[in-house]
Amino acid sequence: MRRKLVVGNWKMHGSHAANAQLLGGLQAAGPWVAEVAVCPPFPYLAEVALSLQGGEIAWGAQDCSAHESGAHTGEVSAAMLAEFGCRYVIVGHSERRAGHAESDQLVADKAKAALAHRLTPIVCVGETLEERDAGRTDDVVKRQMSAVIHTIGHCISQIVVAYEPVWAIGTGKTASPAQAQAVHALLRAQLHAATAHAGDMRLLYGGSVKPDNAAELFAQADIDGGLIGGAALKAVDFAAICRAAG
Ligand code: PEP
Repeated sequence: MRRKLVVGNWKMHGSHAANAQLLGGLQAAGPWVAEVAVCPPFPYLAEVALSLQGGEIAWGAQDCSAHESGAHTGEVSAAMLAEFGCRYVIVGHSERRAGHAESDQLVADKAKAALAHRLTPIVCVGETLEERDAGRTDDVVKRQMSAVIHTIGHCISQIVVAYEPVWAIGTGKTASPAQAQAVHALLRAQLHAATAHAGDMRLLYGGSVKPDNAAELFAQADIDGGLIGGAALKAVDFAAICRAAG
């Protein structure tokens, strides 16, 4: 039985005051049946770690470098994230694939770097609206997943996958539960071909998940929780989504 996982991606939002209020609200709203995690911007990791230490909410980062260390100005290594107690790191978010020209191979290398430091990479895959309209959804997500499978080999069972259709992120347009389930089933089949443990892997859905659509999405056979953007910034909404996963 897979335990559901709900992860809040704060993106480039937050401040000392806003974070304290959000985390205070979340801590008061638990406990949950699902596993819950938040991914703040890098500068806030230390304070988030301090405030969540010993509690039920895990924390992670929104990206990591594929490099171990060295002359990579502006990058943050997986080893550094591990020092701050991160359990998760998001890699391959569409905002990084598109806005920072991250290739499938770079995303796979980041996932590998994360695993080397015992972080669980949350690998995002997903098609654009153009690709969906052209009937290329399956090919695109399989290609993105395939790079990770080939790069990390048998360790693939240690990752979390997030299917995030690009057209649904921050747009208010959610994939229907059936559309999301179809892609999740496809990804799980691909993972089954790569590992005997695909049935234990968690596949999250992300893209305009809100308190009123979360339960139906999370009820799908291959959807094991969510990666939440906008709604993760309001404690009541995120708490309601976490409850919907319970
Ligand atoms: C995301 O950024 O990963 C995301 C899913 O955003 P939103 O929930 O706002 O669509």
